Amino acid sequence: MIQVGINGYGTIGKRVADAVRKQPDMEVVGVAKTRPNFEASTAVDKGFDLYAAVEERKPRFAEAGIDLAGDVEELVEASDIVVDACPSGIGADNAAMYEEYDTPALLQGGEDAEVVDGSFNARSNFDTVEGMNLVRVVSCNTTGLSRLVAPLQEAYGIEKVRATLVRRGGDPAQTDRGPINDILPNPVGLPSHHGPDVNTIFPDLSIDTLGLKVPATLMHTHSVNITLDADPSTEEVRELLDDQRRTFVIPEWLGLDGAGALKELAQDSDRPRGDIWENCVWGESITVQSDVGEGQSDLYLFQAIHQESDVVPENVDAIRAVLGTESQEESIATTNDAMGLDESLAPTEARE
Ligand code: NAD
Repeated sequence: MIQVGINGYGTIGKRVADAVRKQPDMEVVGVAKTRPNFEASTAVDKGFDLYAAVEERKPRFAEAGIDLAGDVEELVEASDIVVDACPSGIGADNAAMYEEYDTPALLQGGEDAEVVDGSFNARSNFDTVEGMNLVRVVSCNTTGLSRLVAPLQEAYGIEKVRATLVRRGGDPAQTDRGPINDILPNPVGLPSHHGPDVNTIFPDLSIDTLGLKVPATLMHTHSVNITLDADPSTEEVRELLDDQRRTFVIPEWLGLDGAGALKELAQDSDRPRGDIWENCVWGESITVQSDVGEGQSDLYLFQAIHQESDVVPENVDAIRAVLGTESQEESIATTNDAMGLDESLAPTEARE
């Protein structure tokens, strides 16, 4: 069994801990927390061993009546690999600790690409990270774009990607985030950081991205235009995307007209925390126009990305990819089966 430590038990860390626990080949050694808040309490209730991330704050756990299993260094030493889900920038600070204990680590999308040995997306470059010490599971938006780009590039070739990302202002629990009543070009200048980030997965891809922030917490929405080096029919592209294991092409009859309805479906489907691990592509938005150039066409679509959860199965796959324990196909199948990713979002007939 692969022994996995989780350092940083917030939005991403707690979801990864639950997903790792479900895997047949992995065990959670424990989770590291900085302070005894409601998430620490939940971790204890779930039976995770809790480790102190900051030495000086240990007395606070004792005051809250929460037992600690040790310090974060002990967690790192006892783990075959650590998933670092600390806030942006802290993962880079932790890199020296992982190196000291010779424990490979996965950082998250908030870290700079330059800090790590490689960036990871399971569908796109699974085989590139085996044996690396420090790997970054790319951000929610980059994961969503990479999952879309990979099959299209393989099937048709891509001349150019243009994507406008309408980004949620914050996660539901991020009370300090905004905007509250505004629509912000963010950043105002081009490109947003997402395009260069997708290039950490597809170095040769031509991609421009623009970003906006809106007062929503539910999901991001991408408006995508991709010039393909081929001229497939709309139906062929729809079938290609529908065949992808982590893409949900939304049938029109489900009446899912936005992120709110998608989240409602996830809750109705008993997804943990109402999570949506797949890219959600509106089927009727998929449109191919062939009046571009010789042998080329323009693809348009909208997709919704659940920022809090699409990277969770990617972290699980990255563990096997770094340790070299399963192939890409095996790992994605194992992760999906263990999490219930294939079955539980939409009614079976809707996915056929
Ligand atoms: P978060 O703030 O929800 O959780 C981070 C947790 O780490 C908190 O519990 C915090 O108390 C804890 N922490 C802070 N300092 C620590 C330390 N030194 N040691 C251990 N724990 C520490 O953040 P998040 O949203 O889970 O983001 C984590 C990473 O994942 C970031 O790089 C972020 O960019 C990336 N990410 C976030 C999202 C998202 O939408 N939330 C999506 C994809 C990737």
